[in-house]
This record gives sequence, C-alpha cells and structure tokens, in this order.
Amino acid sequence: MRKIKVAVNGYGTIGKRVAEAIMLQPDMELIGIAKTRPDYAALLAYRMKIPIYTSREHVKLFENNGISVAGTIEDMLREADIVVDATPAGIGAKYKPLYEKYGVKALFQGGEKPDIADASFNSYCNYDECLDKKYIRVVSCNTTGLLRLLCSLNTYNKIRRVRATIVRRAADPKEDKKGPINSIKPNPVTVPSHHGVDVKTVLRDLNIVTTAVIVPTTLMHLHIVNIEFENPMTRGDIINALSARRRIALVNAELTGIDSTAKIIEAARDLGRKRSDVPELIVWEDSIHVSGNEVILMQAVHQESIVVPENIDAIRAVMGLAKNPEESIRITDQTLKIGIFREMFSIPKS
Ligand code: NAD
Repeated sequence: MRKIKVAVNGYGTIGKRVAEAIMLQPDMELIGIAKTRPDYAALLAYRMKIPIYTSREHVKLFENNGISVAGTIEDMLREADIVVDATPAGIGAKYKPLYEKYGVKALFQGGEKPDIADASFNSYCNYDECLDKKYIRVVSCNTTGLLRLLCSLNTYNKIRRVRATIVRRAADPKEDKKGPINSIKPNPVTVPSHHGVDVKTVLRDLNIVTTAVIVPTTLMHLHIVNIEFENPMTRGDIINALSARRRIALVNAELTGIDSTAKIIEAARDLGRKRSDVPELIVWEDSIHVSGNEVILMQAVHQESIVVPENIDAIRAVMGLAKNPEESIRITDQTLKIGIFREMFSIPKS
C-alpha cells in the first residue's frame, strides 16, 4: 500500500515532535518540514536528512547558514497529501488559503480558532466525526487532557456537569522571554476561561465551566477537576474506567513518590523518553475523591507532547487510513510506545 505523504509546516515544540512521530508510522511518509528560521532545530533536521522547505524570501538565509533547502513551501504542498500546520497560533489561518490553492488536506493546532476547520478533534471522543474531512483542528494541550478524561468517564456513566481549574505552566522550557517569573496570574481574571469553551467544540452539549491561573513553571499543566455524574460512582468505577485507556496513566503518589510535575518529568527522564516527553495524561490515583455522584481528582498534562498521538490519529481519520478509532489508536500507541509510563509506574492494588 502506498504510504500517505505528510508535510509539516512549522517546526517548533509541536512540529518537531509530530514530524518524528510521522516517521515512525507504517502508513505515513514525512516528505519534509517547512520553517522560516534556519535555527538549531532546522540544522538538526537537516543533519537528520529531513527535506527542509521555506518561503521563497528565506531560501538565501537558509543557504547562508549551510542548509540546502529542498524547495519552497509551495513545492512541498504540491507533493503532499496532507499538511500538519504547527505554525505559531494564528499563523495557520494565514496559510489556509495556500492549502486550499494546492488542494491539500490540513490539520491545524489548538492555537487556531475553531472555525478554521470542519471539526475539532480528540481520538477518544470524535474520531468518527472527523473521518474523511478536509480540515481538522487538533485541540490544545489542556483541552486534550480534559477530553481524554471526560470521554473515558462519560462512556461509563453520563456526566451531568464539570467544573475545573487549570493551573497553567507559564511557558515551554525553551521560551526564555515569557513569564510570569514571580507571580500567580489569573488567566483571565474573568470566569470562564476559554478551556471549557474549547472542550465544547468537541462535546457540544456538556455543561462545563473552567477557570485558569498561570504559575511560574515550564514543565506541565495541572488540573483540578470536579465532575458530577447522572448516577453515583465509586472510586473503583473511576479507576476501572481510566485503567482501560492506555493514554491515561494512573499514578499513586504515596506508593511511587511521584507527587509533583517535577517528579513526573524526572520519571520520564529515567524511562529514557526523548525530550522527557509524557504524551500520557497523568491522573493521581490518590487524588480521586468520590462522594455520591460527585468526583474530584487532579491530573497533569505535558503540554509539549500530549497532542502528538492525537495529531497522528487525526491524519488517519482525515485520510481514511483507519475507519475506526481503535485501529488508529492501537498503531499510534504501539509505534510511540505509549503505555510504558503506566506499565512502569502504576502499582496494582494487592
Ligand atoms: P513554536 O513557536 O514552538 O513553533 C512554531 C514553529 O513555526 C517554529 O519552528 C517557527 O520557526 C515556525 N514558523 C513561524 N512562523 C512561520 C511561518 N510563517 N511559516 C512557517 N513556519 C513558521 O510553536 P508551538 O508551541 O509548537 O505551537 C504551534 C501550535 O501548536 C500553536 O497553534 C499552539 O497553540 C499549539 N500548541 C502548542 C502547545 C505548546 O505547549 N507548545 C501545546 C499544544 C498546542
């Protein structure tokens, strides 16, 4: 079978991870990446023999830095079946007319407005809805974390309402110009924050309200989630529902000592995970508090990597490579070794 030709436009935090994940898929071929600056990431991609494309006006800049480009972004689009747009928030909208011109399907990221695409995407929630669509938006890291949790629990017992507080990392580790560096900043001061609104681009009828603050850390986000179900739940029900999902790692802080985002990242380093990535959603088992129909828990989201498996599944949905989510999720998880975090650190109850 011919492999699907995938291009990646934008090669930063998300683009480089998605590009490497594409290279591991049996049914996809990375035909190249596009970038506007010939920085260290471009140099490394060049040394990895990934074809590099750029806009016409930047070709000289790349060649001055010793990087021979494979062509312009238009050349790349001409060859691609699908492009993953991982340019900075808002820039994807500027590229959409070009994708339309070359008749190439496109995935956008969570920094774009929802109306850029035919649908917003999460593998556990609405794969079927996105089958064979032309433009899909893979929701942001926080929304992906919330949706993974909610769609895993909603199939078990219908959710009546959700209230969640998002404690956001201030910046990615490489972003040395962002803050705050000594403050806790409501994001925004008004309620609700946009995260719940974004969840509703996938789960349209859900009653959800979120609030958010930004704190001075670069490692991960943390969510405190309060869910009310239609019917009573037990701790065992929650644990069973979440244990059924490979992309969710239930971690017991007391037994493992993994009681902070710093320790999650250290555990990922110990696992030898590239860039200390944690594409799994981490749910602290000890935090699960159940009272009748109400559940409160805490979870952590690695913003740099959680959307990578979703991007791979979204490519399969849009290209019709796998007709059901289970088939795509199985291949993605196997190739990206998702599930190892919980195999190593989830301790079965004796
Ligand atoms: P980034 O700044 O790390 O990377 C953007 C890349 O695009 C860089 O390589 C930059 O050189 C390149 N670029 C800039 N302008 C360009 C242009 N005009 N044409 C082509 N390439 C251009 O950004 P990121 O953090 O990877 O974010 C990308 C998207 O993913 C955004 O929509 C963002 O909201 C979303 N997202 C980010 C995170 C995160 O935590 N970083 C998590 C989930 C989703």
